[in-house]
Amino acid sequence: MKPAASRAERGVGLISLRGARRLVLEAVRPLPARRVGLDQALGCVTADALVAPADVPALANSAMDGFAVRSQDTTGRTLRLRVVGEVRAGHVTSVAVTTGQCVRIMTGAPLPAGTDAVVPVESTQADGNEVILSSPAAPGDFVRAPGSDVVAGQELFPRGTRVTPRCIGVLAASGIDALEVVPRPRVGVLSTGDELSRSPGTLGPGMIRDANGPALRALVRQAGFEVVDLGVVRDDAGAIAEAVSTASKSCEVLVTSGGVSVGDADLVKVVLDELSGGTMRWMQVAIRPAKPFVFGMLQASAVPVFGLAGNPVSAAAGFLVFVLPALRTMAGLQRVDNPVVAARVSAPIRRVPDGKLHLVRVTFEPGTGDDLWVRPSGGQGSHMALSLALADGLALIADGPGTAAGDVVDVLLLDPEAPAELAGPTVDDALALLGQP
Ligand code: AMP
Ligand code: MG
Repeated sequence: MKPAASRAERGVGLISLRGARRLVLEAVRPLPARRVGLDQALGCVTADALVAPADVPALANSAMDGFAVRSQDTTGRTLRLRVVGEVRAGHVTSVAVTTGQCVRIMTGAPLPAGTDAVVPVESTQADGNEVILSSPAAPGDFVRAPGSDVVAGQELFPRGTRVTPRCIGVLAASGIDALEVVPRPRVGVLSTGDELSRSPGTLGPGMIRDANGPALRALVRQAGFEVVDLGVVRDDAGAIAEAVSTASKSCEVLVTSGGVSVGDADLVKVVLDELSGGTMRWMQVAIRPAKPFVFGMLQASAVPVFGLAGNPVSAAAGFLVFVLPALRTMAGLQRVDNPVVAARVSAPIRRVPDGKLHLVRVTFEPGTGDDLWVRPSGGQGSHMALSLALADGLALIADGPGTAAGDVVDVLLLDPEAPAELAGPTVDDALALLGQP
């Protein structure tokens, strides 16, 4: 295999994070649409507009347990009607209601012929086979009109809608049990390195545990994508090529960690260069951590491959800024990045100018006023995974001397959900503010 290092050293040099992301995001496309059942659709993006095939509800039905009446019979002085039948949800009655009559009706039951209103049982008094209403009924009272939720022919959800559980409920009610969606990519995760052990027992000399495999697989799952565990391979070009080629037959995206730096054992970049027919980009991205990065498409399968650096924080940061937006693009989503929020730093974040954007692990802390405050969550070495685990986001600290206390910085959130400091009141607090006991 030809050494990719020389080509990369000649060609690429430092590339900005923005430039590297553009390169990735311009190369990936939404996956071809696929028909799935409702139970597989959650979180997918609709590939077609969804149109209601029928009215919901299909028939006028009762909104209350009570009596179906002819409203014009309820305007007299006595408000007394004879009960001539009963109808429950899921049943229909053949009784046609005429003057002075009514039918006992349960919530959800279709209105009997001749009736146009329902009087709730709470507003009535039974008297043998008659019922006395406490007040007159107007046409349509406590009746759910046909099409009052959804009208036949109405566009329920445009193309490009992310399917939520609520969408699924509406589709089910409308009789739509399958739909065209952009499927979620299946992502294979491979760890590389002679030093990696997967056994939980005592480590052999020089060995470490594979942290990236489990962490990256969890990141894929957290984002709602399917993951395939490709395990660990040694720093051996043949073994890496074999693992990648095999995985490309069952995965739509591959993510590797390790082996993309400038060391003698960094063979992932060499193998990927070969498997991509020389089109793979080995980049030195002007960020810290996650500087070395490989991206490209496998020649045989057009499967995109992300070669992330091996240090656990580099791998996770690379996933956040490169892999996650690409996966979301492939899944047809419009919003591809986690939110970025502005926050003030509670203490200076010092750094030295080095031509790179620093992604500083920070945690939100209680502050004063409406501002959000952050501070570094711990050491910033790229092997220090605990400070990443304790962080809420990565502060984008531009090249230069750093920031002073009180400066505002942009923080890319690590999790798709907002941390507690960003959230408003709890539901209970909101209810208490409304005066609820
Ligand atoms: P590399 O990118 O292969 O040069 O690896 C850089 C550093 O990350 C080395 O200290 C590796 O031991 C470490 N490393 C690589 N892969 C993993 C992994 N899967 N889990 C934990 N550490 C790793
Ligand atoms: Mg390595």
